[in-house]
Amino acid sequence: MRGMPRFIFLYIVCSASAVAVITISAQAPAQPDWPRIEEEALRHFQTLVRMNTTDPPGGEKPAAEYLKHVLEQEGIPTQLFALEAHRPNVVARLKGNGKKRPLLILGHTDTVNIDEKKWSFPPFSAARDGGYIYGRGTVDDKDNVTAALMAMLTLKRLNVPLDRDLIFLSEAGEEGTTRVGIQFMVNQHFPEIDAEYCFAEGGNVTREAGKVKYASVQTLEKIPRAVELVARGPSGHASVPLKTNAVVHLSEAVGKAAQWRVPIRLNETTRVYFERLASISSPEAAARYRALLSNDPRISGPADDYMLEHEPRHASMIRTSISPTMIQAGYRLNVIPSEVRATLDVRMHPSDNPETFLGELRKAINDPAVEVNFTARDVRPGTGSARLDFEGFKVLEAAVKTHYDTITLPTMSTGATDMAYLRAKGVQCYGIGPAIDIEDGPKGFGAHSDQERILESELYRFVRFHYDAVAELARAR
Ligand SMILES: [Zn+2]
Repeated sequence: MRGMPRFIFLYIVCSASAVAVITISAQAPAQPDWPRIEEEALRHFQTLVRMNTTDPPGGEKPAAEYLKHVLEQEGIPTQLFALEAHRPNVVARLKGNGKKRPLLILGHTDTVNIDEKKWSFPPFSAARDGGYIYGRGTVDDKDNVTAALMAMLTLKRLNVPLDRDLIFLSEAGEEGTTRVGIQFMVNQHFPEIDAEYCFAEGGNVTREAGKVKYASVQTLEKIPRAVELVARGPSGHASVPLKTNAVVHLSEAVGKAAQWRVPIRLNETTRVYFERLASISSPEAAARYRALLSNDPRISGPADDYMLEHEPRHASMIRTSISPTMIQAGYRLNVIPSEVRATLDVRMHPSDNPETFLGELRKAINDPAVEVNFTARDVRPGTGSARLDFEGFKVLEAAVKTHYDTITLPTMSTGATDMAYLRAKGVQCYGIGPAIDIEDGPKGFGAHSDQERILESELYRFVRFHYDAVAELARAR
């Protein structure tokens, strides 16, 4: 942690088997000049937000070239890797002594699209107003890009000796074109980014009424799949209703799938998540979170009912979830169609076996007229989670305590992130992010919302938190 004296213990074994211990006060790493760093972080952040990198079409090149320029000016070797010339990824590396495997810090330079009419400040203005900075990408994900950039620059300037290489990656194409971003890097240039640990987007610190409530560090995510239901039956004139009507069979199947109570599954992350959430919740809420962890369905059942009704994200975190999203049926009013389809968005719980799940779903639907199968989707790999008992998580927990004075909840996200590709290669990835007001999303200022903004003070706090966590995990001992 910052400001603590460092000591090196030298153990000298003498011939008479006596052990002499000499303590030498080692030079504590020089401390960053935070006011100057904040000023610079703001400058880089605003420059990046002012670049329109919306995806599609995703023109990340100006942002990539800017980052390369800033890093190279500091003497940090930097390379661009591009599957498509206008969509480069940036990789820079600070060398360590090789005692430990590298730490990768990443963010994506592309953003989701905008509807200009919906913005009170122009979406690429990076306008500062009332303590906020406005613009597309301010919380997704130019905040992480800036924090990672500042960590590189600061460690280089202070000449901090490192036990592991520190690798910076700014990715293109996270918002729906991962083939030019993380997939390209993992499949074609993995040695450039291979690491023991990675920090990326996917977590945050939650504030409510201006007060910090807890920090979420994402350690695991559900695995997106798609299931297609196909119902078939004889076609006919709609003036004569048929029991075999494929539309009716499909509708019933969709209803049964959505109402099927998929069994609860827990893992290390979700157990610790609910235990810790209970420790900071009201007595009633705490009792429900603890009840979810019970093996006795008479105890977990009512709590699960409550989650399905009132806290659907929590209900999804404890099982493979099913959301019907598309139905294609019929082509004219007076014709009973012979074949109709529905698609279910399925988020597999990592402990569920897909084939077993499919078999159970078929049983729940229980209709020979309806075929139930997995269908193609842009599938992220589903193996690997980040450990809670590893140094990476402990360092983040300690930095959360120092900077936010709050508890860390390890989180399994219901959605998918680019970390899935890295975890599948064995990298221990933790999702982090700045503090966000829980009220801001519903007001329309969250990631992917009509507008987007970050609290300026929280950007700076995140830069400091990020630096401390990175420095602690990478510095030489
Ligand atoms: Zn993002």
